[in-house]
Amino acid sequence: MGFKTIDDMDVAGKVALVRVDINVPVEAGVVTDATRIEKIVPTVKDLIAKGASVVLLAHFGRPKGKVVPEMSLRVTLPALEKALGLPVAFAEDCVGGPAKKAVAALPKGGVLLLENTRFHEGEEKNDPALAAGMAALGHIYVNDAFSAAHRAHASTEGIARLLPACAGRLMAAELKALNAALGEPERPVAAVVGGAKVSTKLDLLGNLIEKVDHLVIGGGMANTFLVAKGVQVGTSLAEHEMADTASAILAKAEETGCAIHLPIDLVVAREFKAGADHEVVPVSHCPPDAMILDAGPSTVAVLDTVFQSCRTLIWNGPLGAFELQPFDAATNAAAAKVAELTRAGKLVSVAGGGDTVAALNKAGAAEDFTFISTAGGAFLEWMEGKDLPGVAALMD
Ligand code: ADP
Ligand code: MG
Repeated sequence: MGFKTIDDMDVAGKVALVRVDINVPVEAGVVTDATRIEKIVPTVKDLIAKGASVVLLAHFGRPKGKVVPEMSLRVTLPALEKALGLPVAFAEDCVGGPAKKAVAALPKGGVLLLENTRFHEGEEKNDPALAAGMAALGHIYVNDAFSAAHRAHASTEGIARLLPACAGRLMAAELKALNAALGEPERPVAAVVGGAKVSTKLDLLGNLIEKVDHLVIGGGMANTFLVAKGVQVGTSLAEHEMADTASAILAKAEETGCAIHLPIDLVVAREFKAGADHEVVPVSHCPPDAMILDAGPSTVAVLDTVFQSCRTLIWNGPLGAFELQPFDAATNAAAAKVAELTRAGKLVSVAGGGDTVAALNKAGAAEDFTFISTAGGAFLEWMEGKDLPGVAALMD
């Protein structure tokens, strides 16, 4: 796929600089969710097994180029040591004297964590001097932080241009999964796009109608498409001023041969709250004083058929106001269908996005998807068809 992995590198006896995402939640000085830390273990362990020592580069929070003691990466050390089952040394800075000294003291097979790269203004500015300062600490560069790859920063992009560079295990797995979903997918391909607003997902819709065979539009953003088609949506969340844009997307989809699937029935309520009185109505029958909070059962039945006809599916955005029961029903049912088809080996399924991951977890379906991206913004930019600078810098 145009990038090297750890297996292509000569790492024995070398110092590997590994960019990781360990931007974990912390409360009262303790890591409360170590998932991101656990995910970097294979890369670190494989490098050590191949005879390297490992120097970890990472950001933490948004200190905006200043040293902010509360945003020190030191807080992650106990969780890192626990996940790796190894002692981890720490350096007070990611460049200069303290970093050099700590690297020099690192035994073969040792692990060292450098302080928050964002304590330096040059990090987010992709300052060549900062990148060179970090590059001088090691022999090879391994990027395992896909979730930071949409930013051209010194530790994600600049440094990759200065050393022999490759993707870590996590980055390679993410790129492979994303390529299987939209790069060179098995067809037909379906995309499910939901969520609140069309305006935040215009680039994403534009890219998808060029690439997929079926585009399912749900959630609040479907309301804007219904408005564009002249359907009454009552008091629903809808961007009326985006109706022309929605019409243009529908016209373009017709040109590219992408079948668009909008809800054919709706779950409507008078209040935006859990357990609100609700009814199922055909798409053309939303009462003027009601709002659309979910897709109805007939829509779910159509989606089942669409999913069954496809080999690949990519999903971003819930189909309804999934935080409020029972308006999570369509999202749950569609997720269960995707999970079932994936388990049966009939579908490759990839999903991502903050609320989407939460919704699929809530539906109990996430485990069965082929790949769930926790990369947030980087995943969305990739779905928009954008080049991610941190990935581009790894390409031959
Ligand atoms: P992601 O974070 O996965 O990219 P979004 O942020 O785009 O997803 O969308 C999630 C939000 O969309 C949720 O808060 C959900 O309640 C909201 N939403 C979905 N459908 C509706 C609807 N019909 N009315 C109001 N809000 C909705
Ligand atoms: Mg969101």
